[in-house]
Amino acid sequence: MGLIVQKFGGSSVADANKVRNVARIITETYRRGHNVVVVLSAQGDTTDDLIAKAQEINPNASKREMDMLLSTGEQISCSLCAMAIEAMGYPVVSLTGWQAGMQTNSTYGNARIKRVSTERILNELDRRSIVIVTGFQGINKYGDITTLGRGGSDTSAVALAASLHADLCQIYTDVDGVYTADPRLVPEAHKLQEITFDEMLELATLGAQVLHNRSVEMAKRYNVNLEVLSSFSGNPGTKVKEVVKIVEKSHVSGIAKDKNMARLALVGLADEPGIAFRIFSLLSREKINVDIILQSIGRDDKKDISFTVAKSDTDAAKRILEENREYIGFDHIDVSDNIAKVSIVGAGMINNPGVAAGMFEALFNAGINIHMISTSEIKVSVLVDIDDADRAVQVIHRKFFDDNGLQSAM
Ligand code: ADP
Ligand code: ASP
Ligand code: MG
Repeated sequence: MGLIVQKFGGSSVADANKVRNVARIITETYRRGHNVVVVLSAQGDTTDDLIAKAQEINPNASKREMDMLLSTGEQISCSLCAMAIEAMGYPVVSLTGWQAGMQTNSTYGNARIKRVSTERILNELDRRSIVIVTGFQGINKYGDITTLGRGGSDTSAVALAASLHADLCQIYTDVDGVYTADPRLVPEAHKLQEITFDEMLELATLGAQVLHNRSVEMAKRYNVNLEVLSSFSGNPGTKVKEVVKIVEKSHVSGIAKDKNMARLALVGLADEPGIAFRIFSLLSREKINVDIILQSIGRDDKKDISFTVAKSDTDAAKRILEENREYIGFDHIDVSDNIAKVSIVGAGMINNPGVAAGMFEALFNAGINIHMISTSEIKVSVLVDIDDADRAVQVIHRKFFDDNGLQSAM
């Protein structure tokens, strides 16, 4: 007998039949003799609908009140699922983030879990209850409800698995596992049996929404036995682990796309020391994360610097730079949010320079222009026009994988 944490995403609990389906998966696990802790997301599009409701009332609502509102979605799905399990005759209790002991910092809207006080959950498990916990939410030191950022229920599940020393953390979703690319965009993408924490972390950070990136970070840190699988198909899923079998190692593990970004270009900067420092220290003071940075070669003692930020930070970044125009010294700022980042990820690519060239060739053959490039040991990212992004993922996938999803010879 072991302890299993099972997390079900919004599409897995979208309506009454789906809630019953999830209840069946949970109770089957329980009947096999396991202790089961369940984490649920809000049903279907509930979180988006709640955001729309807030917009109607006050587009500038405080983050605290937004968290108060958004956390209600998870409460609905958890109580409904507990009711479905009750109806099947099993002992069950649903708990809010607060009742489950999820303590976070005070960053409303993007809180980090600091500690999980597991006493209540352990007491319930001792009584052989199935425990259902609201994902995505916790409580801060002021006793206020916080949320963990969109997609954060995965992180709630991994945090519980780590704190309870669970034997397994299963993330149930609407696809069979982690694929070489989003299977909705690339139907011939193939499911990975296994992927390393590092590669999964890159893919999640670069836009593959199948796992919240902080859940992967935490799973790696606490060596959580993590699996992604479908709540509908019953097929084996993808194991996310420290080391994967050598046969699975290929140059490229996956392709990801992120449309949630904007590019700012500061044009006509002085070509002298200290300029980059001024720009990026101002942005960091505002807690604005910068991603890809490109500096042009100086000409006539002038240069340009472009960089990308999350779309939601665009206005704040522009404002802070405009306010410091004299201090930085530039002609003007160009802002574009019609761009997207497309990335290839793979632990095997560092020793294979042909990989980046292969990506650029695929884009060239498709007539797709690259605006910026950034590389690291396990990824290559390019910035392209937003309208080219889906096609870019498809042609790059075709370049690296054949129609069966198998890695093509490079
Ligand atoms: P949930 O509601 O279960 O949390 P999400 O919508 O957050 O589900 O994540 C699942 C979705 O992630 C899939 O429906 C799929 O379209 C998308 N996705 C993006 N990249 C990948 C990938 N590489 N592998 C699998 N799914 C991916
Ligand atoms: N319900 C939240 C969201 O839609 C959290 C989650 O689903 O993980 O972002
Ligand atoms: Mg999700």
